[in-house]
Amino acid sequence: MNAVSVGDSVVVYGPWGCGTCHACSQGRENYCPRAARLGIMPPGLGRPGALAEYLLVDSERHVVPIGDLDPVKTVPLTDAGLTPYHAIKRSMSKLEPGSVAVVIGAGGLGHVGIQLLRLMSAATVVALDIREESRELALRSGAHHALPSDSKAVGLVRELTDGAGADVVFDFVGAQVTLDLAAQMAGLDSHINIIGIGGGSLPVSFDSLPYGTRVSTSYWGTRSELIELVELAKQGAIDVHVERYELEEGPEVYKRMEAGKIQGRAVLVPAQRS
Ligand SMILES: [Zn+2]
Repeated sequence: MNAVSVGDSVVVYGPWGCGTCHACSQGRENYCPRAARLGIMPPGLGRPGALAEYLLVDSERHVVPIGDLDPVKTVPLTDAGLTPYHAIKRSMSKLEPGSVAVVIGAGGLGHVGIQLLRLMSAATVVALDIREESRELALRSGAHHALPSDSKAVGLVRELTDGAGADVVFDFVGAQVTLDLAAQMAGLDSHINIIGIGGGSLPVSFDSLPYGTRVSTSYWGTRSELIELVELAKQGAIDVHVERYELEEGPEVYKRMEAGKIQGRAVLVPAQRS
């Protein structure tokens, strides 16, 4: 029996692995050590992706049925939801009641990350973003505080934590300026998660960061985590802020994204065929 039938709405799991190695057998295809060697490329990252009327998927295991959920509101979960969900799960041991989590960048991924942090933990959530509209989106998404990500942010986070600094910093930007902020506001025995691919670097040595700081990168998410996210969406627990466009508007949407004018996630929708 197939898990999906013709006509079903599905979302596509993106980070394809070989499907048979130890990591893949745990659903951790995002960390498949054989994918590069076998030339496996995710859709949209080296092979044709979803900016088309049809998307070829190599295996049934790479689709997750979404039932009656609105495909436009649900499709961003495959990245904008899965990436923060995976990063947060890796830091759950630090997200205890009374802890402080800082989210740098309240854009497509960050605003979902804030919702997930509120859903999955009792941590105080502080959002940092240079854009005022994104700070407003952060507050609507459940952040307790939303601050401009400038030089004053470090002092404000220290103030909020009685000098201790953040327990977990999620950097959804990853630029030099935001990684510097992350390093300056991290507390003792904290986690710094580098998620954004902004090209910055964070020097790590014994005394370059507070003692016990764990710095890690985090790539996309696992297959089982996407299934869990779809379950959360079915429960109405996640509300992705979506701007909807026609497929033909794609080039213009990319320009708007580059100019920082997209709120949340832009979704391009192909014309419906009758
Ligand atoms: Zn594998």
